[in-house]
Amino acid sequence: MAIDDCLFCRILAGDIPADIVYESETAIAFRDINPQAPTHVLIIPRKHIATINDIDVDDLEIVGSLYAAAREIASQEGFSEEGYRAVMNCNEAAGQTVFHIHLHLLGGRPFSWPPG
Ligand code: 5GP
Ligand code: ZN
Repeated sequence: MAIDDCLFCRILAGDIPADIVYESETAIAFRDINPQAPTHVLIIPRKHIATINDIDVDDLEIVGSLYAAAREIASQEGFSEEGYRAVMNCNEAAGQTVFHIHLHLLGGRPFSWPPG
């Protein structure tokens, strides 16, 4: 997929507005347009990686930085201790609809396990 066709690359480029809550050298995070919890933030790498299956061994630091972002945003939002969910879907059966990896950070309410 050309980068121009990727929704999240277009958000990264500033072509599509987003409510950005976090930025680092390797990642940005913005609020989900259709939140599933009081806080629902999408944390994405600046590098276009389509799915978990496309993560290269050289990308591991970048992927780790998504969790560093989750930790920081959870702290900012005030639910670090209470708990939160960080989820990354892979491909259609798991519900992935945007093919630029993203960690869903959900917090501010209890979650059941296992998910539906
Ligand atoms: P997926 O289903 O791929 O795991 O997650 C994609 C997420 O992107 C969904 O939760 C959806 O609500 C969110 N989303 C889709 N389009 C936009 C958009 O234009 N802006 C923002 N902020 N979120 C979006
Ligand atoms: Zn992309």
